[in-house]
Amino acid sequence: MIFAPDSIIRQNVAGLEPYTPILPFEVLSEQLGRHPEEIIKLDANENPYGPSPLVAQALAEAPYLHIYPDPESRELRAALASYTGLDAEYLLVGLGADELIDLTMRLFLEPGDLIINCPPTFGMYSFDAAVNGAEVINIRRRPDFSIPVDQVEAAFPHPALWGAKSGVPKLIFVTSPNNPDGSWLEDDDLKRLLALPAVVVLDEAYVEFSGGSRIQWMREYSNLIVLRTFSKWAGLAGLRVGYGAFPLEIIEHLWKIKQPYNVPVAGQLAAQVSLADRERLLTNVARIVDERDKFYAVLHQFNWLEPYPSRANFILCKVKGRRALEVKQNLAEQGVLVRYYNSPGLSDHLRFSIGTPDQMVRLAEAFGNI
Ligand code: PMP
Repeated sequence: MIFAPDSIIRQNVAGLEPYTPILPFEVLSEQLGRHPEEIIKLDANENPYGPSPLVAQALAEAPYLHIYPDPESRELRAALASYTGLDAEYLLVGLGADELIDLTMRLFLEPGDLIINCPPTFGMYSFDAAVNGAEVINIRRRPDFSIPVDQVEAAFPHPALWGAKSGVPKLIFVTSPNNPDGSWLEDDDLKRLLALPAVVVLDEAYVEFSGGSRIQWMREYSNLIVLRTFSKWAGLAGLRVGYGAFPLEIIEHLWKIKQPYNVPVAGQLAAQVSLADRERLLTNVARIVDERDKFYAVLHQFNWLEPYPSRANFILCKVKGRRALEVKQNLAEQGVLVRYYNSPGLSDHLRFSIGTPDQMVRLAEAFGNI
């Protein structure tokens, strides 16, 4: 018998669609025939102001890059405790919030287990569910992107069967503000989800732009996990640092499965420096929020764009009477990158990350040239 190694690959992985890689910025700029610095990148909700200048300084002076990082991120967690108002024992740091989404699934899900996802939303929940062999129950959002909570409740069996070993979804993933539209999950809806016999993972990646947070609710609800990141408000997307607030009964098990050296020294240091310099970074956040609200009004001047109100650092628009793909391509030729969607519920939609005031003027001018 000839042994075929690919025949023993986990079945759910062998059956996955190949991943479409995102082109690196340098490759894109080469394709567009422009220098990277001439390109206005508004397609991935990155922070146009970048990190605190103290980050580069701290990294240049970092003495221990040849030593493995602290597996418990003690200094960073102590700083996060003061930032979040939660004791450090509730906090776990990850290689971006992305790692914590996967880690949470690996903690709870056996192959075939159910999770609830509420599309249109961030794609990593269904991606990681597929990698972990879970079944996804998709409860589609309403046209205004709110979650039909009654449909989520209906996905659970009768309360008499809540203790059953199968047929009860284990995890509910919700994002507030939601990506790609920036809508807010209302308190009452979150409370109804928390009353279900599942763990609710509330992704607050964009919360600094929203003026609210439910991270404190974690003290009250033993089935609430809140995920956060330094990628957006602190401009550290390239350094990959996220964190989560977890009930003690959950975090104790996460510590057992987390890779010891998951977050590099550079990322931990950059996050610590960002927290120490948060006044400056939160001033940038305020600038972005201000620009978002101004740009929302600008978008209304174009009758072929229908923007949705947003509490995040981006605005989603429905494109009317034109092909969104063509608009995206035309903008790219003008050196402005935006995110195009054509998935169910998002056909002919574009999402614009909020950049500096100058960048948004350039985007509005580029609309005018189409
Ligand atoms: N959650 C949401 C809703 C996001 O949009 C993103 C990034 N686009 C993430 C999590 C991932 O964050 P990180 O960069 O910390 O992995």
